[in-house]
Amino acid sequence: MSRRKLPGLFPTLLILLLTVNIFFMVYVKIAIKDLRKEDLVHLKLHAWKSAKENVLVEHLEYIEMVVQNISNSIKLSSNVEERKLVDDVQLPEKSTDGVQSAKEAKKEEEKHKVSPKMRFPDSSLFKRWGDNLSEDEQVKAQALFEQYGYNVYLSNLLPLDRSLKATRPSRCLEKKYPQDLPTISVVLIFLNEATSVILRAITSIINRTPPHLLKEIVLVDDCSAHEELKGPLEEKIKRYNVQHPGLLKIVRHQRREGLTQARISGWKASSADVVAILDAHIEVNHEWAEPILARIKEDHTVIVSPVFDNIRFDDFEIVRYIEAADGFDWALWCLYESPPTDWYALKDETAPIRSPSVMGIFAANREFLGAIGVLDGGMHIYGGENVELGIRTWQCGGKIEVLPCSRVAHLERAHKPYLLDLSHAVKQNALRVAEVWMDEYKYMVYYAWNVPLENPGIDFGDVSSRKELRKKLNCRSFDWYIKNVYPNLIPQTTIVAYGTMRNTLNEGICIDQGPLPGNTPIMYDCHGYSPQHVFYHSTGEIYVGSLRARRDIVDRCLVDTSQGELPFLEQCDVAMSKGLSMHWDFRQGAAVINKITKRCLELVKDEGASVYRLILQNCTGQKWTIQHTVKDWGSKRTAG
Ligand code: UDP
Ligand code: MN
Repeated sequence: MSRRKLPGLFPTLLILLLTVNIFFMVYVKIAIKDLRKEDLVHLKLHAWKSAKENVLVEHLEYIEMVVQNISNSIKLSSNVEERKLVDDVQLPEKSTDGVQSAKEAKKEEEKHKVSPKMRFPDSSLFKRWGDNLSEDEQVKAQALFEQYGYNVYLSNLLPLDRSLKATRPSRCLEKKYPQDLPTISVVLIFLNEATSVILRAITSIINRTPPHLLKEIVLVDDCSAHEELKGPLEEKIKRYNVQHPGLLKIVRHQRREGLTQARISGWKASSADVVAILDAHIEVNHEWAEPILARIKEDHTVIVSPVFDNIRFDDFEIVRYIEAADGFDWALWCLYESPPTDWYALKDETAPIRSPSVMGIFAANREFLGAIGVLDGGMHIYGGENVELGIRTWQCGGKIEVLPCSRVAHLERAHKPYLLDLSHAVKQNALRVAEVWMDEYKYMVYYAWNVPLENPGIDFGDVSSRKELRKKLNCRSFDWYIKNVYPNLIPQTTIVAYGTMRNTLNEGICIDQGPLPGNTPIMYDCHGYSPQHVFYHSTGEIYVGSLRARRDIVDRCLVDTSQGELPFLEQCDVAMSKGLSMHWDFRQGAAVINKITKRCLELVKDEGASVYRLILQNCTGQKWTIQHTVKDWGSKRTAG
């Protein structure tokens, strides 16, 4: 974002010109106060058609631009100084009175400007943004970035009603939606988000949802600490409600309860036929609501998700995301899956995509969502609630679909200011889901998180009411779910031992997948994170690295290639089809012996070296232990 430093006489003229325009504009603004943006654009287009060369139209266009910027700036006045008000307005391309245009002057000035020093060369904020910021501005922008995880400095300068690039498949434009669709309440939850970001979300919803369908916008504040989100936000809500009586509501948590509770509070406060539960850092795109409402009208048991496009955290550009289904791995981290093959067979890119789960943002028939238990209020801070909703919906008689024609741009932060390490919360929430919904498959969640099956030492809270809900709704089994809804997630039924693996020669070092990209496992100081997760199967396979277990993303198996002394990691399916030596004899506290080559996995210390290397060699009787075992495996030699 370039900022102008204006030298000489010209700026004085320019400021004079702008001042005159600002007066004119305030007058125009009063006149057009009740016009919505679309009306204005319409008016403008109409005017363009009838009198292309008309200077007045150019002026009106300019005035509109200025009005937008000024009104945004006024709304954001709590943190925008007056100097910026003049500084931030967009300037017209052509001058109407023959003098040098401001834009030309700006270009001229930039030619002579010495690039300011980069204050934060390592900050991801400045990788592709902010070249022309002064050092002071860089400091401000960086401080806001650290606080929020996205570019609040830029957000405060962008129009609230900026246009978004079209991202939906072109065939969506041909779709016609019925007029008498169900009404919608839109819930926006937030914890210490930037005011301009929240206001932009609200503005996009008001501007891009048919007014007769938009019943209300419910803001849920999960006990934010920022002052600007208290009284000042309240004032802004009042102002919106003057124009749109009763449209905005706000619910505030008295203490921080986490995003699941915030979503539940939003659902409770909403009253329309359909409720869309969104993050507060989004901008909805054109006709986002109609596909959702039409689909839920057809079938009230479908829970739908729009496709998310990305608002880049640094320059706020919109990046189109490809249509995908929402899935998860055995740790219950969410991930994208390619749509099922029958979706491709339809050859209709607008068709709903059947999905195992949701990413977090979704819409549902309000009553149906209530009947199946909204969300699990026992979830802590972040994560897992979306997977729980996915599994529960399918197992209890509903469906989940992603709608390619409904697009919501979502700001992906560079970091989460409220929790730097999400894994503890996600682990805890994942175990809740496992205990309530996953039956005999629940162990796989334990394997993936590397927690012991007995006494896991993780307090996942009381799950009894959720178990009762499952019983009351007479829901199907996880076995049904995995076979019918999510065959891409591969059950791990043969794991008998898992966790870190150490040699009795030195118990401070662990087997590690080694550097990536690369296929050579090594010994490394034990840290116990996923690169050091090892899974021993009763079939004799040894997986190394975090558990993947998906059809398209296969785990890597330890193999003896018989070439040289180094062990090798090969994709298990490839190793299998090539007939590589990938099966090992092992029991707790004993040697790891390849069943075919009979070589052992062992440690060596080269002459003069201080560290051990992991190699394959003739067995010398070295012993290995693995962190966790399944039931009583390891007490005797298992068949394999
Ligand atoms: N949030 C909340 N309480 C929390 C954490 C997050 O209300 O304890 C809100 C946050 O402001 C955001 C939404 O929950 O609107 C989702 O969080 P986030 O965007 O960080 O998650 P992501 O979209 O990256 O999964
Ligand atoms: Mn988010």
